[in-house]
Amino acid sequence: MSFVSRKPFKPRAATPGRKINFRPRIGIRLWLTLLFLLITALAGVTAYAIVSPRLENTLRQASEASFSQVGIGFEDLVKSNPDLPPSRIEAYAVSRGVQWGIVRQDGEVLAGDPGDFSPAVVNGALSSGQPRQALEPIDSGFRRGQVLATYSAPINVPGETRTAVVFTKYITESDVENVQAAVSGINRVVALAGLLALLIAGAAGYAVADQISRRVSRLGVAAQRLAAGNFDERINTRVGDEVGDLGNTFNSMAASLKGAFRQIEQEKERGQAILDGMTDAVIGVDKDLNATFVNPRARELLETSDHAFHRRLEEILAKTQFEGALTAPEVHAGGQIFEVRTAPLEEGALAILRDVTEERQVERAKAGFIANASHELKTPLFALSGYLEILEDEEDEDVRRAFLQDMKAQTQRLQNLAKTLLDLSRLDANAVTFMSEYVDLEELLYEVRAMFHYANRQINVEAQENLPSVKTDPIQLQRVLSILLDNAIKYSPGDTPIVLRLFEQGDTIIIQVIDQGCGIPEQDIPYIFNRFYRAEGSSRADGTGLGLALAQEISHHIGVEILVESKPGEGSSFSVVWSSKSS
Ligand code: ADP
Repeated sequence: MSFVSRKPFKPRAATPGRKINFRPRIGIRLWLTLLFLLITALAGVTAYAIVSPRLENTLRQASEASFSQVGIGFEDLVKSNPDLPPSRIEAYAVSRGVQWGIVRQDGEVLAGDPGDFSPAVVNGALSSGQPRQALEPIDSGFRRGQVLATYSAPINVPGETRTAVVFTKYITESDVENVQAAVSGINRVVALAGLLALLIAGAAGYAVADQISRRVSRLGVAAQRLAAGNFDERINTRVGDEVGDLGNTFNSMAASLKGAFRQIEQEKERGQAILDGMTDAVIGVDKDLNATFVNPRARELLETSDHAFHRRLEEILAKTQFEGALTAPEVHAGGQIFEVRTAPLEEGALAILRDVTEERQVERAKAGFIANASHELKTPLFALSGYLEILEDEEDEDVRRAFLQDMKAQTQRLQNLAKTLLDLSRLDANAVTFMSEYVDLEELLYEVRAMFHYANRQINVEAQENLPSVKTDPIQLQRVLSILLDNAIKYSPGDTPIVLRLFEQGDTIIIQVIDQGCGIPEQDIPYIFNRFYRAEGSSRADGTGLGLALAQEISHHIGVEILVESKPGEGSSFSVVWSSKSS
């Protein structure tokens, strides 16, 4: 499987966390409500357990105290009526529900029926002359559990000494039952009150729990939104309790996260901008060799390259994961050559592909240039050494002179070649300083013609009048025109004229070098500016194939263009063109 057959790389969306359901749940409400109910029930039961016996006791005492009221009421009665007749005493006793009697110290009952009483109470009253009262619990017999209440106060009975009135009452089961009935009545009220308290507590508990639960849930929802990337999420913190504090902490956390995220985003954008703007192709893959990120250059390369390129790249990336960073040998994609450098990532690998096509072409051109130059230099040198050898043994003066003439020509050729090579290498190394001055082109054409006086050729200068000067480097322009004129002379018969024409055409100024020579085959025209290129049939003229290359190199620097029109057998016209008069 190759990179292109995979889906185009898309940045992975931030992995959303597991979806947490923050809908208010019953949990906290139920538990808090139950807790409220439990506490209320416990408090009620405890309070009841403490209060109930005391209540019972108090009621019992209240029942007993009602007997005390009998004595107190009697004393008040006696005070207002000291000679109380027995009938009044009886009426009083009946109205109070107690038994009564008048007893002597020896225990004899003189009037009424006091029933059981405590003699000690009677004796105490008689001996002290003051009323006495006692309550005696009954521990056995059928009255077990009842209390015998005795009240006694001294009383004067005519004809008797030491007599006392006695009121008695058994505080019975029914009294106790009355108390119990009262207590169970109270219990019912307590139970109702408890039920009501439980209801209120439950409702209050639920309300409080609901309130807390909602606020906690709100925090949960906010946290979920924050996790999903909404950094503007904030919690309302009006209530200053612990949940409010938590909300404040959440808000400041969200604010710092927002800042940090913005910073990361900016860093990411910067990184992305660098990656996007890179002329190198950058490809990241995961451990299964799936592309995790590719910059635009890489995308373009992957889309346009063939299967073999993808396979090779995959091999290199797979190797990187096991062997670490490496610089792979060149990888070819169509006509392009790439240098691949890779580095392992934590889970995958990264490759940077640099297009070295031009670099390699230049290197190859340089190597070719050196080989060609050496060859071109070797040829005249061999010729010269051959001539020298022959000259040593040659005695015929005419032959020697002819040889010397040839040697001079070869030496001249060597010099020209050396000069051209030097000029080209200086241009390549940017070691030439170009001037820029206003030049009268017509004058320059006459100077160039004068330089070729030795060639003994007819060179006609045809210049349009009143043309403006142009800004250029006169020496370099002269060099360009010399190369073109030299070629025109070389590649045209000696009896045909050559024209140097200067004229204006629209916004352009043009110098043409026109000959009526052999012309250049159409298929050769695109290549004649290449170094060492010579068109078919040019070998009849002396040359190295470097002249036009040098002329074009110079023309780039002085802001002119060289155009060629040629017809084989009819001649050629080379134009030096300034595209704008002002330049
Ligand atoms: P050379 O030293 O061979 O003249 P140039 O670089 O000056 O090298 O020219 C390259 C080739 O272009 C020549 O070999 C020739 O084939 C062709 N050429 C250049 N100028 C002319 C011309 N005026 N007429 C015909 N052919 C030309």
